[in-house]
Amino acid sequence: MNVVNPSLTRKVHIDSPSPAGYIKCMSNRTRTPSGWKLPPVVIPVLAALVALGWGQMGHFIINTKALGNLPASMSRFVDSAAYFGQHASDADYRKSSDPSEAPKHFLDIDWYPAFQNLTPKLDSLIALYGTPTVTTHGILPWSTVQTYDSLVAALRRGAYVRAESIAADLGHYVGDGHQPLHVAVNYDGQLTGNNGIHSRYETTMINVYASKISVSPVPPVYVGNRFAYVMAYLLVSNSLADSVIRADNGAKSVSLWNGSGTIPAAYTAELWNETRALTLREMQGATVALADLWYSAWVDAGLITGASVSAGALPAAFSLRQNYPNPFNPSTRISYRLAAPGRVILTVCAVNGAKVSTLLDAVQGEGAHEVRFDGSGLSSGVYFYTLQQGSRSESRKMLLIR
Ligand SMILES: [Zn+2]
Repeated sequence: MNVVNPSLTRKVHIDSPSPAGYIKCMSNRTRTPSGWKLPPVVIPVLAALVALGWGQMGHFIINTKALGNLPASMSRFVDSAAYFGQHASDADYRKSSDPSEAPKHFLDIDWYPAFQNLTPKLDSLIALYGTPTVTTHGILPWSTVQTYDSLVAALRRGAYVRAESIAADLGHYVGDGHQPLHVAVNYDGQLTGNNGIHSRYETTMINVYASKISVSPVPPVYVGNRFAYVMAYLLVSNSLADSVIRADNGAKSVSLWNGSGTIPAAYTAELWNETRALTLREMQGATVALADLWYSAWVDAGLITGASVSAGALPAAFSLRQNYPNPFNPSTRISYRLAAPGRVILTVCAVNGAKVSTLLDAVQGEGAHEVRFDGSGLSSGVYFYTLQQGSRSESRKMLLIR
């Protein structure tokens, strides 16, 4: 499905992946109790190069763990955890009967010369490149947004059983979008002599190390611009693809495995060693993104009232703006407005809730202010920044891409 890509630029420029929400750094990491439940046994019919995206186990983890982020008002979803786990890979199984399904699971994002500015309108992309090319290189972000829209429509008309099925699919596509090799031209290491890495990473490794994957719950925020939001995490995923390829080389050299025949346990152990951090970040990111989108769909369907969307009755003059530029590397500016003078605290948290920096803790006057945040030394990913003044608090997301 691939053509060697010309030069790539990784400077990106997307406006706010999501509007304001209300998130605080968590002082303690809370882990969801109990281990993963194993998915029902299903024998994969198609092996090898048919990319299942995280394998069944990975999709199971993402679909079920994302439920831990949802508010009590969405208990109907939470109560259907078994369903979401069992149907996390339905979208993959459809590939064998529906030829239009496969392109929905990936995007050779770096095949496109200006991939940071891909159009939200699939028709426009097709007008530019033609259907065969667009299909060959995958339509993951557009299918994700389309699935979101279908979910909103089903929830609106009260078709709850249908909505659950669509929501499980949405989880699948969000999961695929957080697997770096689903978002890169070199999707199976075929350009670099790393053939087979796709399934070694997402299935062989994840099946062995599933019990080591934990995510922290993060309250969902409303996503206004779905396409920009999806593209933002796809760009992060893409930026990690080379690390997975390097880890394959490292694992081969440590285990002395030449890449053919049975995969030795030493190879898988070293692949996990070298990709553990990025894999956990992507799993965490997938559960956050999925919960954000499920939550937003409920809001858009009118099932959650506006009061839950914003942090509450904040005075209009107290406001935190989207950082600029966003995504950024390595620094960005955060501006905000205070309604009254007082002590102000601005903190930055990682996606797992761990505090990364206290950018500001000072008494300031009312009006507009701006601070610069330098992400040097941090890894690529989603971060939250939170402005607090007295009982008022507002959070936003930003995206660091190295
Ligand atoms: Zn898939």
